[in-house]
Amino acid sequence: MRKQIVAGNWKMNNDLPETQLLIDALKAKKQTSTAEVMVAPTFTNLYQVFEAFKTYAVEVIAQNMHFAENGAYTGEISAKMLKSIGIETVILGHSERRAYFNETDELLAKKVDAALANDMRIIFCFGEELADRKSNNHEAVVESQIKKALFHLDAAAFKNIVLAYEPVWAIGTGETASPEQAQDMHAFIRKTLANQYGDDVANSVSILYGGSVKPNNAKEIFSKPDVDGGLIGGAALNADDFFDIVNAF
Ligand code: PEP
Repeated sequence: MRKQIVAGNWKMNNDLPETQLLIDALKAKKQTSTAEVMVAPTFTNLYQVFEAFKTYAVEVIAQNMHFAENGAYTGEISAKMLKSIGIETVILGHSERRAYFNETDELLAKKVDAALANDMRIIFCFGEELADRKSNNHEAVVESQIKKALFHLDAAAFKNIVLAYEPVWAIGTGETASPEQAQDMHAFIRKTLANQYGDDVANSVSILYGGSVKPNNAKEIFSKPDVDGGLIGGAALNADDFFDIVNAF
């Protein structure tokens, strides 16, 4: 049985006091589903949030990392640094990193290698732009993103990889892929994995959907057989909405 996961990406939101308010609100919520719950605060608040959820079933994860272990990379954070404060999982390849910070598939492959070398779990994000979907090129784009960043890995590496399909046109726009569009793409992703690594690997990898998931659409999206959870942006900043989504399983 694949892991069901709901991960909240807080992005560059919430200073220290605001983060404490969100922590307190989240701690007051009750989980009724068995999904794994994760939250990804900004770097400055990672340790605060990690400490706060130490005895809770909420994993605190990072939004990004650099591929180098240490060195002259001003402003960057390494896997070793994340591990040293207890962080075991990192989001890589978010479309905002790709679009605003020029993260290419080749760079992401290096980050993937660095995270795995440090025994970290990866939530690897990818997804097509609106123009790709309009020109019916969305599957080719997604296939290429996955292949370039991940297909140099051996099958065993996929134990530590979660995939997150996030159509760029649905992120932060209020526009959601229909449950059918999500299912079709997730099935395609699983087939792509199966062609390269076999059915066992393909059937064991959790594939999350991300893109304007809200309490009112989560249940239908999560009901699709190849959708194993969600990567949540905006709705993760509100404890009620986030836990409504967590409990939609
Ligand atoms: C995201 O940034 O990964 C995301 C899915 O954002 P939102 O839920 O706000 O669309």
